[in-house]
Amino acid sequence: MGFREGPTAEVFRDPLHYDNEGGRAVDRCGPLRPASHRVERRTIRLLRILHGMGPGIENWPMIARLILGLLFSILIGGLAFRLGALSSSGWLGAALVGTAVFGFGGWPWALLLIAFFVSASALTQYGLGRKAEAALDFAKGGPRDLGQALANGGIGAGLAILWGLFPHPALWWMFAGSLAAVTADTWATEVGLLSRRSPRRILDGRPVPPGTSGAITLEGTIAGGLGALGIGILAVGLSPVGGSIGMALWVGLSGFLGMLLDSLLGATVQRIYWCERCAKETERPIHRCGQPARPLRGWRWLNNDGVNALAALTGALGMLLWSLAGG
Ligand SMILES: [Zn+2]
Repeated sequence: MGFREGPTAEVFRDPLHYDNEGGRAVDRCGPLRPASHRVERRTIRLLRILHGMGPGIENWPMIARLILGLLFSILIGGLAFRLGALSSSGWLGAALVGTAVFGFGGWPWALLLIAFFVSASALTQYGLGRKAEAALDFAKGGPRDLGQALANGGIGAGLAILWGLFPHPALWWMFAGSLAAVTADTWATEVGLLSRRSPRRILDGRPVPPGTSGAITLEGTIAGGLGALGIGILAVGLSPVGGSIGMALWVGLSGFLGMLLDSLLGATVQRIYWCERCAKETERPIHRCGQPARPLRGWRWLNNDGVNALAALTGALGMLLWSLAGG
C-alpha cells in the first residue's frame, strides 16, 4: 500500500473500512487510530452515507429504503410527467411501482426498471407528430395512466416484494423476463407506429390500418426483440445473483414471447370497440372523437391493460420455467 502517513490519510483513502462505532477503526491491514478532528469525522460519515446509497443499501432499514425509493420515483416520474410521458395518475403508478422495486429490490432492480421506463418513454416521445393519429386509437398511445403503469410494472413490483421476503435467484430472472416483455411490447408499438407500411394482423398477415389492436410490423417486431434482448443483457450485467450471456438470450426470448402473446390476445380476445362516427376500431370504450364506441369483439373484462399484464406475466413465467428446468 505504501501510504502510511497516518490514520487520517488512510481513513480518507478508504473510508469504507472505517468503523465509527466506539471510535474504533479497523482496516484490512490492522487497527487504525480514530480520526481526531470533527470535520474529518463528518466527512467520513457523509462518505459512508453516500457509499450506503450504493451497494450497501441492502443494509439500510426497510423504511429508509422505501422512503428513498419513493423520493427517487417521484423525481423520475415527475420528469416523465413534465415531458408528457405520464399522466398525473400514471405518475402515481410509477411512484408505487418504483417505491416497491427500489425498497424491496435495491439498486439492480431499480436500474433495470429505469432502463425500461426511460427507453419506453423516449421512444413514445420520438416522432410524436408522425404517429399521433394512429396512437390515439391505441389505448396505450400518449401519456401512460395509472392502469398502464400498474399493467407494465405491477408484476415486477410484486416480484420485488417477494424478493424482499426471500431472495431467490429465480425471482430476479422472472423480474427481468417481465420487464423484457413490456419493453418489447412498448418498443414494438412505438417503432411500428413510425413504419411507412401498413401493419399486418398477426393471425393472417392481412394489412390493417395503423392503430389496429393485434397488428404487427416488421420494424416493430425487430425493435421489440432488440428491446427484450437489451433488457436481458442489462439483467446479466446488473444481476445480484450471477448469470451468463446465455441468460440474456433467455430473458430476451421470454420477453419476445410475451410481446407476441400481447399481439395475439389483441387480435383475438381483447375487448375491441367500434366507433360508428369514424368507422374505426378502437381499444377505448369512448373514442377520441368523443363518441361512445360499441363493443365489437373480445371479452368484456380483458382490456389493453389486462393484455399488457398478461404479457408481463408471460415474460416472468418464461423465466420461471427456465429456472425450474435447472438453468
Ligand atoms: Zn370516433
